[in-house]
Amino acid sequence: MYDIASIYEAKSVDDAIRALKEDPGALIIAGGTDVLIKVREGKLSGCRLVSIHGLIEELSGVVLTPGGDIEIGPLTTFRQVAEDPVIRARIPVLGQAVDQAGGPQLRAVGTIGGNVCNGITSADSASTLMALDARLRVKGPRGEREVPISQWYKGVGRVDLAPYELLVKLVIPRENYEGYTGHYIKYAMRNAMDIATLGVSCLVKLDEQRRIVDDVCLAFGVAGPVPMRSYGAEAAVRGLPVEQAVSAIGKAALEDVNPRDSWRASKALRLQLVEELSARALAEAARKGGAAV
Ligand SMILES: Cc1cc2nc3c(=O)[nH]c(=O)nc-3n(C[C@H](O)[C@H](O)[C@H](O)COP(=O)(O)OP(=O)(O)OC[C@H]3O[C@@H](n4cnc5c(N)ncnc54)[C@H](O)[C@@H]3O)c2cc1C
Repeated sequence: MYDIASIYEAKSVDDAIRALKEDPGALIIAGGTDVLIKVREGKLSGCRLVSIHGLIEELSGVVLTPGGDIEIGPLTTFRQVAEDPVIRARIPVLGQAVDQAGGPQLRAVGTIGGNVCNGITSADSASTLMALDARLRVKGPRGEREVPISQWYKGVGRVDLAPYELLVKLVIPRENYEGYTGHYIKYAMRNAMDIATLGVSCLVKLDEQRRIVDDVCLAFGVAGPVPMRSYGAEAAVRGLPVEQAVSAIGKAALEDVNPRDSWRASKALRLQLVEELSARALAEAARKGGAAV
């Protein structure tokens, strides 16, 4: 039973902002795969919704800008992200990550914007977007502003969205992906239809001989209350030969993370996963970049 008091279908982004301002308690709905579950569970009983689902032209799709930045509309579904030619050619690791969310039906409906606006640490796109240092463009009554994803997450289920603001674009700057190869590992109890017990995304840039780690970006989901980068581990292995970096990165990452016990897994298991999967993700990312590891 879906107890929804009203739903307004916005005609444009500006119209959605206006509708939210006129009805301060209303909630945005995009694909609805998070919102409708909460409505059905009674957590949002009697809610009023502003739907942006129809704003395909304004809010969906992937664009490669003339400067090489990649802009992703928040309404782009997981499936569209995974199948997009720009994503496949330039940041396949993001397609790999979102292709592991839920099952085919979910990926046809769930959006990448909903995945970062729900503020959930297990969100499958989040660790890769953290590793890519994505910038999130939001629009509200006072116009647009851009938030680095490192400052986006404010706590469990809370993100840097002010009242009446919408996420309108995810931007991956060219310098954050060019020359890097990446790999995402989702550890879950089942291969499909399960959320991550731990997620790790690693991007690496190798030297010309494919032997030295020139740069590395390592990010986790479920290693803390919000998605997080492991800057300490990155600094610890930068400049090392690939094999040494693979051996060292897991232990170094343990210094940065703060997972908890939950019914899904113990803190001890999650720490073991952080150590092991960091090494595996770096090794695989380096292999994709041409290293012999
Ligand atoms: C069966 C099932 C399995 C799932 N498995 C996974 C999984 O494996 N991995 C995973 O990461 N997630 C999973 N999810 C969660 C969900 O599908 C994703 O989080 C999805 O990305 C949400 O997108 P949506 O468009 O459906 O969001 P919605 O439900 O429409 O919205 C989610 C939240 O984001 C806000 N929001 C949405 N778009 C915007 C915007 N543009 N601006 C501002 N706020 C916005 C909404 O107000 C709401 O608070 C699963 C869900 C279900 C039901």
